[in-house]
Amino acid sequence: MNLCDAHCHLANLSEVMPIATLLDKAVEAGITHFLSSALTKKELEFYPQLMNMNSAKILYSAGIHPNFESCNLTFEDIKELCADHKIWAIGEIGLDRGNPEYALMKEIFVRQLDLALEYRLPVVLHIVGHQSEAFEIMRSFPLRYLIHGYAGKIENLRQFLRLDSYFTISERILREDKADVLREMLKSRRFLFETDITQYYVKDGEENPLLRLKSLVEAVAQRYHIDQDILIRIQAINYQRLTGLTI
Ligand SMILES: [Zn+2]
Repeated sequence: MNLCDAHCHLANLSEVMPIATLLDKAVEAGITHFLSSALTKKELEFYPQLMNMNSAKILYSAGIHPNFESCNLTFEDIKELCADHKIWAIGEIGLDRGNPEYALMKEIFVRQLDLALEYRLPVVLHIVGHQSEAFEIMRSFPLRYLIHGYAGKIENLRQFLRLDSYFTISERILREDKADVLREMLKSRRFLFETDITQYYVKDGEENPLLRLKSLVEAVAQRYHIDQDILIRIQAINYQRLTGLTI
């Protein structure tokens, strides 16, 4: 069975690496599906081309990020993408404690949730700090959420699990002090895996950062004594729930 990288930034990575070759190699290694996120106008322009130049199955989302300076997408951009059925989800959007303008950040977040509701699209979330506030906002929208790279408290994770939420497991959560959060995610069976790869995260001399996804799944399987095939089957079911498509 095949793997999906459920949160990555392929257009961003393409600015520094030969993305078509990397994707073809990833597909050969069994990573066939990608849920990629666009945060700039330049990245957006690249996606139609990117989706046709390799053997990977790529879906992309777009959103106004709560704390990424280079994000220059406007509400109108997102609305147009929704109306034209270009994106599979709105995101990554959310709340981030690094942004000092809380009121404005919240307003932009809520407007985009309204849009997701109008177009019946899932939402990819970036939540760093402000977890209880995010939950309070999210619970008033009957939406499906993919919370990416979650590494907050277990209490907040349990709150999010009361909603129609899914999570992407990242390398970040393999830390010993996050073991209880990861265990809870695995128990919930509402997980996928992600690299969150961007050009900023490529390591010196690294040939293909997309392949990190395989090591991540292997590490989780080994640490929690779960058969890799079971992990891969669960992420495939969740991919289908989120996108309506099969892996
Ligand atoms: Zn991201």
